[in-house]
Order: sequence, then C-alpha cells, then structure tokens
Amino acid sequence: MKSKFIDFMLSAFFPNKCPYCKKNIKPDMTECPECLEKMPTVPKKAMTSAGIPCIAPFSYDGEVRNSIIDFKFNSIAFNAESYAKRLCFTIEYYHILDEFDIITFVPLSKIRKNERGFNQSETVAKLVGESLDKPVMPLLKKIRQNKNQHDLNFAERIENVKGIYMPVHAEYAKGKNILLIDDIATTGNTLSECCRVLHESGANNIICIAIAIAGAV
Ligand SMILES: [Zn+2]
Repeated sequence: MKSKFIDFMLSAFFPNKCPYCKKNIKPDMTECPECLEKMPTVPKKAMTSAGIPCIAPFSYDGEVRNSIIDFKFNSIAFNAESYAKRLCFTIEYYHILDEFDIITFVPLSKIRKNERGFNQSETVAKLVGESLDKPVMPLLKKIRQNKNQHDLNFAERIENVKGIYMPVHAEYAKGKNILLIDDIATTGNTLSECCRVLHESGANNIICIAIAIAGAV
C-alpha cells in the first residue's frame, strides 16, 4: 500500500486532473465537485439503429466526448475511474445488478491494443467488476483490424464488423447472463455483432452498456 506521504508528494507534482474540465483535483477524487454536480441524474437508455438496446451514463458530446478522446488517444487512464463509477451508478439506477453473472468487453485487435497500450473498454470493465464484485472475462477476440466505424455509412458499418469477432473462453459464456461493456455506442453495429458471437457461444441474456451513447438525448 502506498503511504499517505507518497500520495501527497505524487499529488503535489502530478496532480490528478478532472477528466471533464481538467482542473486539478484531490487524490481521493475521480472528478471535481462541479462536474459531479452537473452529471446527468438519469442515465441514457437508447435503442441503437442496429436494434440493440444500450444504456450509458452519458451522451457523447461536450466535455464527456473530449474526456473519452483523451482517455483513448492520449492514454489518460485515470479517466477510467470516473467512467467506472458512472457505469456502476447506471447499473444501480436500472436495478440490473442481479441480471448478469459475468462482465465482458468489446475487444480491440492485437495491433490496435499494442499501439494504444491498453483496451479502454477492458480497463473500465475491470474497475466495474472490482467495484461490483463480479467476474470480468475476455469472451471475444477481434481477429482483424477493420476500418473506423465513424468513417462509414450505415450499410458499410454493418459489413465492416461482419466476422471480425471470434469467441474465446466460450465455456464461461455458456448459459450465462452477460454485461457487455463498450466505450462509445453509435449505431450499435459493433455491439450487435459482439452479441451475435456471444449468443453463438451459448450466452443467455446480454445487457449492453457504454460510457457514452452518440446521438442520445
Ligand atoms: Zn471538472
């Protein structure tokens, strides 16, 4: 365990920054009180255009959008702590804690994960699992790098995700209710394809949750 002194020194030289407004925050905080105050009290619940329902604490815009971009592309892993808390709040809000046995996440391709150094959805999933005391398992593997979904139109997005995920540890998915974590849900095509593969592994019910839903109001 780190000592209070080390915590103090670290926070003096490398203070944590609020993921949303970038102000320095105390070491025991995951976001500043002002941003916490402004957070949506009703999480988002949306039917994606791929027909997959998804819940999320945020819609993908403004400071939340910038913070997720920092998290993914500038490797600001600290942001995950705040997202994980909000995901837990969303799970509590919708009373779904007992509706899943195991947590999994949308995988990255090996190339992308090596480039980035981490999988953003996996990082959040692990924190959510720890906090809810639920097992987190990789149940999917991305077998090739596809084009970025946001550069494509709807029909292209469906094609772009076809056959890119494979089941792993299928024995853990069989007969289980699963919470599937993604970072940003847009059209839902990625989630839809992940659900299809998990059902092929014998998964029972799947609940999709993201940090943010694009286009959610
Ligand atoms: Zn803030």
